[in-house]
Amino acid sequence: MIPRWSKYNFLFRKEGHCFLYSSLSNSFALLDDETYDLLCGVRDGNQSEITDNDLVQTLSHMQAINVDEDLVINLIRFISQKRKFDQESLYLTINPTLSCNFRCPYCFETEHHDRFMSDETEDAIISYVKKKGSLKHLNVMWFGGEPLLGFKRIKSLTNRLSGIVENYSAAMISNGYLLTPEVVASLEDLQIRMIQITLDGLATSHDKKRCLKSGAPTFDRIIDNITHCLKNAPSVRIVIRVNINNDNPDDYLQVYDYFASNGISGVEVVPGFIVDRENDIPTCAFNHKQIVNFACKTFRDHKIKSISFFPSIMRNSCSARNINSLVIGPDGELYKCWEEVGRNECIVGNIKESTYNRGLMLRYTAGIDQLDDSQCIECRLLPICDGGCPRVRLLNKYEGRHLETCHLLKDGMEDLLYCHYLSKRQKTTE
Ligand code: SF4
Ligand code: SF4
Repeated sequence: MIPRWSKYNFLFRKEGHCFLYSSLSNSFALLDDETYDLLCGVRDGNQSEITDNDLVQTLSHMQAINVDEDLVINLIRFISQKRKFDQESLYLTINPTLSCNFRCPYCFETEHHDRFMSDETEDAIISYVKKKGSLKHLNVMWFGGEPLLGFKRIKSLTNRLSGIVENYSAAMISNGYLLTPEVVASLEDLQIRMIQITLDGLATSHDKKRCLKSGAPTFDRIIDNITHCLKNAPSVRIVIRVNINNDNPDDYLQVYDYFASNGISGVEVVPGFIVDRENDIPTCAFNHKQIVNFACKTFRDHKIKSISFFPSIMRNSCSARNINSLVIGPDGELYKCWEEVGRNECIVGNIKESTYNRGLMLRYTAGIDQLDDSQCIECRLLPICDGGCPRVRLLNKYEGRHLETCHLLKDGMEDLLYCHYLSKRQKTTE
């Protein structure tokens, strides 16, 4: 048969091995040299026919040949629009306070002390959710400030919200200092399934960057809290985020080793790559190539998978572009993105007033669609990439910025897939 090569294919050779990856089916195959050479011929237009029927079948199964590109784009548009206007799910990021017990030098919330959510705001949230008649799923992320400073508010809101919707689930981003035994004992009732806690390195480094307002250290107490939580609330996933940039990449490995060598199992330690969304030319922040290099080196040198090497299909992965997603500040002010909390110019409305900044809402929901971007339409990664961070797209389009928006895989596909292959091979030889 005469095959038409799909533009969503990645055919490559790495360290003597040959591979084919199709972003359309998100599938990956190891090839022998002969097949690789044949497929290079098909790709480059030098080979007009494939006579091996098994190979044709496999390539068709991988959606690597004879693809209808118009159908692909329409399908992606359909799925993306369906999620964008889905009325059955609601994603709320709720900030019970912007106040914090820490004084981290890099934090934007230092200017917003002592703002706690009032009963009036809580009532407005409840009536907003109640009005959404078709709602089937409600996902809450507790955020701040330090959300556990507003623990009473979390309890009362959870009691009321979980009674409105059948499927309720919650997660929290906390600094971990107030994850006391009393809080841990309530986690199940609060239906909190995941807590993300940041450790900026081991004690010496962390305590310099993440101290209490008084300057007192916090590392040891956070570790005690985590250990207690792991023992007493085992159903809660604990994710430890270690912020790293070009100045401190070793902090990640040190924290990873700390948990392993102290026998503290059950935590996921993930790198928080500091990317600079404010400056077009980042200084010490990582760019995508550096993130890929870090992840591959950490795997090859230490056998640690710090990120997932195999692509996952992103479809509206950040709900900021969906109408069913809001970030709620303690005064009831609404934002689309976590990073905008506390910035007056980013407020899109107020839950107590049912008023909206239509212009800004529409920018997020309609103005930054990757399917209106000719670069994305032409991109080989489109079937798995949803256009990257909506806020970055918005800054680039409306404020003339030139921030990196593409998927990590744009620069790192071959390296990351090769690490995926090595990790699978390692598993089968273990
Ligand atoms: S920074 Fe980007 S990815 Fe993160 S919440 Fe905001 S819009 Fe979403
Ligand atoms: S954001 Fe970048 S990687 Fe993603 S589809 Fe668009 S051009 Fe491709």
